[in-house]
Amino acid sequence: MPRKTDFMSEIIKRIREKEQKWASFQPKGETRIKLLDSVTSFAHSFLDKMDDEKTYHSQKPDHQRFRITNRTSGIDQLLEIYSDEVIHRGINAASAGHFGYIPGGGLYASAIGDYLAAITNEYAGIQYGSPGAAMMENAVIDWMKSIFGFPETSVGTLTSGGSIANMIALTAARDRHKIKGDLIERSVIYMSAQVHHCVNKALRIIGLEDAVLRTIDLDERHRMRTEDLREKILIDQQNNLNPFMIVGSIGTTDTGAIDPINEICDVAEKNDLWFHVDAAYGGFFILTEMKKAAFEGVGRIDSIVVDPHKSMFLPYGIGAILVKDRKSVVQSHHYTANYMQDAYTDRETLNASDVSPELTRHFRGMRIWLPLKLYGVEPFAACLEEKILLLHYMRNELVKRGFLVGPEPDLTVSYFWYPTGNQNENAFNEELLRRIHADGRVFFSSTELDGKFVIRIAILCFRTTLDTVHLALQMIDEIMEELLAQ
Ligand SMILES: *Cc1c(COP(=O)(O)O)cnc(C)c1O
Repeated sequence: MPRKTDFMSEIIKRIREKEQKWASFQPKGETRIKLLDSVTSFAHSFLDKMDDEKTYHSQKPDHQRFRITNRTSGIDQLLEIYSDEVIHRGINAASAGHFGYIPGGGLYASAIGDYLAAITNEYAGIQYGSPGAAMMENAVIDWMKSIFGFPETSVGTLTSGGSIANMIALTAARDRHKIKGDLIERSVIYMSAQVHHCVNKALRIIGLEDAVLRTIDLDERHRMRTEDLREKILIDQQNNLNPFMIVGSIGTTDTGAIDPINEICDVAEKNDLWFHVDAAYGGFFILTEMKKAAFEGVGRIDSIVVDPHKSMFLPYGIGAILVKDRKSVVQSHHYTANYMQDAYTDRETLNASDVSPELTRHFRGMRIWLPLKLYGVEPFAACLEEKILLLHYMRNELVKRGFLVGPEPDLTVSYFWYPTGNQNENAFNEELLRRIHADGRVFFSSTELDGKFVIRIAILCFRTTLDTVHLALQMIDEIMEELLAQ
């Protein structure tokens, strides 16, 4: 039997051996600088050359080049794979020419914020972990409360995006109205057919799949008709159902419509319904002089979702939720565990984890706080107003060229199609979009409205300027010339 000291020195030897094997995890000064230099020059070249590159590449990435094996590679080789198989495939979502879905761009300052947050690895989910990080996130939430006229007593948190933010609000509404068991099938949720599909998805996840969903009629500008809402609630009440929630939108995905918030608030208050608003796309237009009137009454609603990775142009990975009823949201999301006992000494301040399904998470505060502090709020408002004007300009130019366009847009999403005057209209416009994608200089997506295939315009990438709109029009002119010559 070996003596105890031999045994210990053997362990120490093995520890040292293992330590050697992961030494690369802690690059020293010179190696660290070289690594970062490669990445920095790659990033600069991406940003500087972006305007000369296509926005859309239809080729598929090569799966082989991503495979994880034990073979290692140098950073430059890996950046090459990233460039070939990731950046130059699909949509370049950072590009000025991204007019599809809901773009945003990705502010450089925000990327720097992410870098710092990851380097110092702050634990923002719990006050106790990093009180400063938690406080910074709360300061961001407080700013959001102030712009939407939510009281200081309301709660909020930064999420990964609008989907999780919506789920948090819907869960809080469910619990405040005690929708469970047999009551689920009698409980009614009112929404427009234009509500984002993540709302339906969240309802299924939180066990409200069997609740009654009432679709409210829309007016000619795709906004919820309050009169129809009022009537449907009344009928449901008369039929002994349990109306409990209205989901409205500020900026629907298809058409950018804003529901009549103030009018719906009257209905919600009168009938004691939770009024949730999905403003994932449109929320920050409240900062603009041009659109703030459309937000009238927003301070009266129960909960709101906004996506800074859309109308604040941040890189993907940040949404936010504000809820007035602190008690219900905490009741749904707060949990204690023995191994967390040190974290719950401060009963007064809420942790991010008390109002969200997440515990350990990315320190998102830094990626929004940094640009807001570096630049102030005003450039965000100006950039949004410029986008509104760009859409006006583009729609006018399209009409001049014989296209038809959707109704006067509420925000910066609209649509257009070419009227062929025969039953081939949808096929013609589908072919137009196919050629736009094949060209790739700028990217548009499409949608279907009342059986009509239309090409969507979403102007929200901060990099999109008048020059980009001219480029898009030039591309459309060239393709139309080809198409009409056939
Ligand atoms: C984008 C969007 C969502 C979903 O948000 P994610 O950040 O993609 O999870 C929800 N609602 C609307 C109106 C949106 O535009």
